[in-house]
This record gives sequence, structure tokens and C-alpha cells, in this order.
Amino acid sequence: MITRQFGIPVTSPGAILRREKDLGTPLGKKTADVLQSGGLVSDKIIIELIEDWLRLHGGHGFVFDGFPRTLRQAESITSILARLRTALDLAIWLEVSEQTVRDRIAGRLQCGECGFTTSSSSAQFSERAVCPYCDGPLVRRNDDDLSVLQTRLQEFRTKTEPLASFYEKMSILHRIDGNRDREAVFSDISRLIENKR
Ligand SMILES: [Zn+2]
Repeated sequence: MITRQFGIPVTSPGAILRREKDLGTPLGKKTADVLQSGGLVSDKIIIELIEDWLRLHGGHGFVFDGFPRTLRQAESITSILARLRTALDLAIWLEVSEQTVRDRIAGRLQCGECGFTTSSSSAQFSERAVCPYCDGPLVRRNDDDLSVLQTRLQEFRTKTEPLASFYEKMSILHRIDGNRDREAVFSDISRLIENKR
């Protein structure tokens, strides 16, 4: 969704790794167990993936979705971008309650082909579980089990939460209420990005 509407390249480490897993690469196999249990893949692997991606696609603006998730990742990307003589313009912090996370994980569907995500409660797609972009099959992500939620929330509190003050100090942090419907959240994000172009 984001990729198409912003018109600039977007990447998410999760999407890259799921693709590696589907392709059966050594990296995909290595990281599948960690993802399955709700843990975070090592900083070293994530940073290498992102650096490779940036070299290929990041020449004229880019958006990271779900990256960085740890302080070490944030520090690494800061120095990688400095070497490329650029920097982040914006860090968007989606504030979402634990209940919202629970509800969304329980109903999330993802395209097996292109990674587009939607929810099973979204009327538009409930009758026909097919991706609106590529006609791929919409399936429940298999790391969506609610039982891994506690691990994921714990990882978030200890490793990701500190990033808010990291980017606040750099004066690029913008907080958005992510508990609202998808369209409202998306239009806020779009406005922030448009204002930086
Ligand atoms: Zn698709």
C-alpha cells in the first residue's frame, strides 16, 4: 500500500526476510525460526539487508517501514547515511494501544505474492481473498499467532521504545495516533512525507 501511494521506494526488513524464506535461501532458513517465535532478527543481518537495499534503491528518497527497531540499528543507519552524504528527514512514531495490536494481529491478512497487508474485517476484501494489486492469494501470516504477541511486546518495550527519545533528540520525531482507522493514519503519514519532498 505504502510503496505504491508514495511513489518512492519503501522497504521493510520483515518483507525481505519473508521473501528469503519463501525462496528457501540460507538467510531465509536461518531467520525463519526467530520470526516464528516473535523475536527480532539480529541487528547485523538487518543492517546488511538495509544497506544492500539502499545501495540499489535509495538514490532518490526512500521510506523504511518497521526499521530501525533497535538503538544499534538506528546508530548504524545514521552512520551509513552520513557516508552517503544524506540523513533521515523524518521518523514517524505510530502510537498504538496493546488492545489495538491484539485486534489487528488476530485479523491480519497478507498477500503471498507482493506482501500487501489488509485485515479480514475490511469489507472490501472479505468476500474475495485476493490481493487488489497483483491478484495473489491473501493468507493469514503464520507468525501472527496471538501466543507470540507477549514476546513481541516485550521486545518492543526493551529494544524499540528507546528509539523515540533517540529521534526526539535529533528533532525529527513525529507521533501519530495509530489507533484510528487505516485511512486516517495513512493520510497523516502521507502529509508528513509530502511536506518533506
Ligand atoms: Zn499482491
